[in-house]
Amino acid sequence: MSLFSCPAIEAQTNRITLTDPCFISDLHLSAESARQADFFVRFLKEVAERHKELVILGDFFDYWVGDDAWETAAGILNPLRDWAQKHSLYLMHGNRDFMIGKTLADRLGATLLRDPTVAVFSDEQLLLSHGDIWCINDLDYQKVRRKVRSFWWQWMVLRLSLKKRLSIAQNARSRSKESKVKKDVTLMDIDADTVKREAQQFKCSVIIHGHTHRPGLYSDLDNTPRYVLPDWKLHDDEDYRGGYLIKTTSGWEICSFR
Ligand code: MN
Repeated sequence: MSLFSCPAIEAQTNRITLTDPCFISDLHLSAESARQADFFVRFLKEVAERHKELVILGDFFDYWVGDDAWETAAGILNPLRDWAQKHSLYLMHGNRDFMIGKTLADRLGATLLRDPTVAVFSDEQLLLSHGDIWCINDLDYQKVRRKVRSFWWQWMVLRLSLKKRLSIAQNARSRSKESKVKKDVTLMDIDADTVKREAQQFKCSVIIHGHTHRPGLYSDLDNTPRYVLPDWKLHDDEDYRGGYLIKTTSGWEICSFR
């Protein structure tokens, strides 16, 4: 990995053209779980295979500590790389896997998207985002977001050994599982005025994002439909559930995958 790798500035484009996309986000895959890898590989074979493009709008991984961690997640990344040889793969950063860099994207055969990105699709323009950038009312979160997406922070972290980064990430993850600090739900949601403004600015007639874990179609942006992608339920003690968004002949559809 390059000494000056900085994922925050490595996204390659904010404008793409799609012909037959499948959208997913918030899988929160754990590299160490073979069961999760198998479930995702089955999704590639049974669902993604039927589409030309797979667009992953962030939080694909529950954490990602740097592109030199490929081997820790080879059970997920190798099949995804194979899939991408015959399809188009797009990746956007989430708030968990914002350390995905161009090295990983290149190795996967994927394009790393800026947040937000405009996708031209048939006669429409779609505005794609992970969604956390629109949760502007959570000031504490936005402060942390700016810090961890800064050049100096990323440069500093990537100087640490892979082993050290993995142990920091795993500790942070178990701490965040323990602390069940409940924030006001409105703080944790997108700010409708902000999204409305961006939709107008980028001339988009459909919004697609993840992050909030409240999947569905929302009509809080006047005439611009807002689709929130489903978060995947991959808890070890239960049946796994995933989901995705596609456009069928009858319109946009959020589908589940089991
Ligand atoms: Mn998120």
